[in-house]
Amino acid sequence: MTKKVESVIEKQRETKVTLGCDVLVAGGGIAGISAALAAARSGAEVLLAEREYALGGLATLGLVAIYLPLCDGMGRQVTFGIGEELLRLSIKHGAEGRYPGAWLENGTAEARRQKRFEVQFNPHLFAIEAEMLLLREGVKILYGTLVCDVVKEGWKISHAIVESKSGRSAIRAKSVVDATGDADICKMAGEATCVFAQKNALANWYYYAESGSVKLEMLGVADTVGDGEDKSAQKPLIGRRFTGLDSIETSEMVCLGHEQMIKNVLRRREADRSHTPVAMPSIPQLRMTRRLSGACTLDGKETGKETRGHFDNSIGAIGNWREPGPVYELPFAALHGSRVKNLIVAGRCISADGYMWDMCRVIPGCAVTGEAAGTAAAMSDDYAGLDISDLQKELERKGHQIV
Ligand SMILES: Cc1cc2nc3c(=O)[nH]c(=O)nc-3n(C[C@H](O)[C@H](O)[C@H](O)COP(=O)(O)OP(=O)(O)OC[C@H]3O[C@@H](n4cnc5c(N)ncnc54)[C@H](O)[C@@H]3O)c2cc1C
Repeated sequence: MTKKVESVIEKQRETKVTLGCDVLVAGGGIAGISAALAAARSGAEVLLAEREYALGGLATLGLVAIYLPLCDGMGRQVTFGIGEELLRLSIKHGAEGRYPGAWLENGTAEARRQKRFEVQFNPHLFAIEAEMLLLREGVKILYGTLVCDVVKEGWKISHAIVESKSGRSAIRAKSVVDATGDADICKMAGEATCVFAQKNALANWYYYAESGSVKLEMLGVADTVGDGEDKSAQKPLIGRRFTGLDSIETSEMVCLGHEQMIKNVLRRREADRSHTPVAMPSIPQLRMTRRLSGACTLDGKETGKETRGHFDNSIGAIGNWREPGPVYELPFAALHGSRVKNLIVAGRCISADGYMWDMCRVIPGCAVTGEAAGTAAAMSDDYAGLDISDLQKELERKGHQIV
């Protein structure tokens, strides 16, 4: 057994500043892709640091390849801009399932009411297409690069410290987008954060081949979130739950996921000998871990049954992916805190709580907040002071409809 040793050691070292940029995006999941793209299109020099060796995060490396809806389930599209662009890109070479023909081929209003604007995509092709898109738009991608610390001048981040095969170095940045999914940069910078008290149930989605076709096995339930009561129809794979914020715990979680996967494969093989796994997730499948506690929080008291009100500082909208009807505007103030001036957050770690965290954490919400964060990062290095109407105009100029 590995012993935990309680002591502290820090080797004194000089860190070379090797790179500089206008906007540093930490994390290359859907939120990071969207932020980098948006910032580059607004004219910023953008660096994207990703600890793995492909883009897409959970959506590609985590194999959770269902692009949840851009519509309200009543026939109205509510998410636009990069959110729609990435959905179309994800199926450039064909959809794997849930093809939204009614939306992509001028379907009738009735057909759009019947079928949601969502799709199942191939994660590998999507990761490569996203990479090619960012390179075309001039984003510099740094793979195998973990942002592990920040240096501040007053309440602004001046440098991010990164570790990679080349060792430890620093990147000078005017603005930083935290798209790590876990609010890692917020935590490092001393911005207010909070953790997901309910913790994550075990999941281990994987691809399998069976009788000549390849399919996605969605192993592990999506919890219901908000009132603390788990109303999911399926039982969790195991009783234990995970924060995703401790490396030893997360390693155990990954091993337990592999164990459940092999059990499932053997069980499925009893019914069909041809059942063979062909791809397993290469990053931990965590839904909610730590998030920003921002200048405004989309609150957890929301039941999700109703459309929320309008925000003057709205940066876009998402539908309810669990049920048709509700539409949620997303306020800009849920993307930044009250302390670190040039740090903005995108994706599954924005300031949303309870049921609204569950609504915002999926792919469309990550794309909307990513696009807004990247656009804002290219415009300012003090988000609390940013003129929201300028940001909204810039988003609209890029084809984004705010509501
Ligand atoms: C089991 C499961 C099923 C799901 N099913 C669906 C679904 O069907 N449809 C849907 O829309 N959503 C689904 N989701 C949710 C959704 O996929 C994710 O919440 C969303 O893709 C998150 O995007 P993100 O960019 O915010 O974060 P992530 O995808 O987590 O991306 C963060 C990226 O940052 C990198 N990173 C992290 N820390 C650092 C660091 N310090 N330095 C550098 N890089 C770093 C990571 O490697 C990763 O690439 C599911 C999630 C899970 C776990």
